[in-house]
Amino acid sequence: MLRLHDTLTRTDKEVRPLDGKTLRFYCCGPTVYGPAHIGNFRTFVAQDVFRRVVEASGTPTLHVRNLTDVDDKTIRDSQKAGQSLTDFTEFWTTKFHADCAALNTLAPHIEPSAVKHIPHQIAMIEKLIARGHAYAAPDGSVYFRVSSFKDYGKLSHLEDRELRLGASEAASATDSDEYTKDSLTDFALWKARKPEDGPNFWPSPWGEGRPGWHLECSAMILEYLGEDFDLHSGGVDLIFPHHENEIAQSCCSTHGHFAAHWFHIAHLMVDGGKMSKSLGNLYTLEDLKARGYTASEVRYVLISGHYSAPLNFTMHSLDSARQALQKLSKTEHSLRTKAGATQPPSRDEVLKHGTAGIFADAWSTLLKDLNVPGALGGIFSKIKEADQTATDAATAKTNWLSLWFMLEAMGITLPLPESEVVADVPAEIQALAQQRWDAKAAKDWATADALRKQLEADGWLIKDSKEGFTVVKK
Ligand code: AMP
Ligand code: ZN
Repeated sequence: MLRLHDTLTRTDKEVRPLDGKTLRFYCCGPTVYGPAHIGNFRTFVAQDVFRRVVEASGTPTLHVRNLTDVDDKTIRDSQKAGQSLTDFTEFWTTKFHADCAALNTLAPHIEPSAVKHIPHQIAMIEKLIARGHAYAAPDGSVYFRVSSFKDYGKLSHLEDRELRLGASEAASATDSDEYTKDSLTDFALWKARKPEDGPNFWPSPWGEGRPGWHLECSAMILEYLGEDFDLHSGGVDLIFPHHENEIAQSCCSTHGHFAAHWFHIAHLMVDGGKMSKSLGNLYTLEDLKARGYTASEVRYVLISGHYSAPLNFTMHSLDSARQALQKLSKTEHSLRTKAGATQPPSRDEVLKHGTAGIFADAWSTLLKDLNVPGALGGIFSKIKEADQTATDAATAKTNWLSLWFMLEAMGITLPLPESEVVADVPAEIQALAQQRWDAKAAKDWATADALRKQLEADGWLIKDSKEGFTVVKK
């Protein structure tokens, strides 16, 4: 059973479904106005590992993740692009899905969008007004009355002193963070139509306008997970005010307790600062692919630091990931061959027949607050033994499935081992590379150099090791 730190109680708690059957959880999804950066993906990949570990432990999940397809940024940038909000956000949603697939994250079971749930949001506001938790301003905007909810600030452990701060003071104190632009006190549930919204407004009992950003998650959670559900997640920047506001809206409009568990992921950093679009220090998956790295290497880097600590991103970490994946791939290939299999097993096969087996220590490390770096260390300390003890096909198969059980739980995909890559190299290129190796062995450096340059000009790189060489595509 997985134990995971809970932001609200600040304790590690067992992750157990409230209904005893399915773990129902919600993740705040992307704002679809540009490519998600790998900081965003640190959060989405950590949530994916969470889901995989729960499922590998034998508990099915119901995973809901929204798409924020209407807010200040989507409206602003769709207009800049001269596109309708729908065309614009659909384009970026497709790109987001492609990146998620490349990073091997499991698609959520339900992916509701804010625009498609406007009536749900209006209904929630009506309830909040009826219960005295919200009020309409003269311009047709509607605000949540923070003073009406005594538990406001519990998740982020705000002190009373901070809650008493006036709106203007609070706004200027937190101005640099784009998620904190709503004031610390009352926040918007409905924003009255403004000229710069263009055609993006909807009718409501308070006039034309659009929902405030925080509201969509509360409304969609109620629709798809009900009043009480197992776990809610996002990056740490969402704790305040976004999740605090979600709790207020939901608890005041239902009789539920909202999420039983809060899972927040620390930031991916670059040069000591949060990777973010507004700071302009971001990398996308595309940027890294253009530098020759694979999505599998990016995923490995993103999971290789514990989710609760900030992780500094460097190109060097991608090189280390490449080496680690090669090492895993070599063992996997050896076990696979000994087990008499030709293809990696399917996810279903692994979850049905695999157990952690020889990697049991690594698995129990993973179950302690999703300790991926610890689990990876545990795997590396055992791979040699896993291969050496596989002296018959049955043991090889057991160890092979155990390795896959662990890889599957972390969503790691493997490259072909370098020895395999050689097999895809055209015969004439392989022959030239062999000639170069022979020239090198004969200390004929000039010939060896010339052949290497010729191969490079043809688009091939040679990697030497003590035992020999491998040829890879440039
Ligand atoms: P957004 O698309 O901006 O709404 O963000 C999507 C998710 O990415 C949210 O859960 C954010 O908390 C998370 N996020 C944003 N920046 C980072 C970062 N640098 N590192 C980790 N997660 C982040
Ligand atoms: Zn949310």
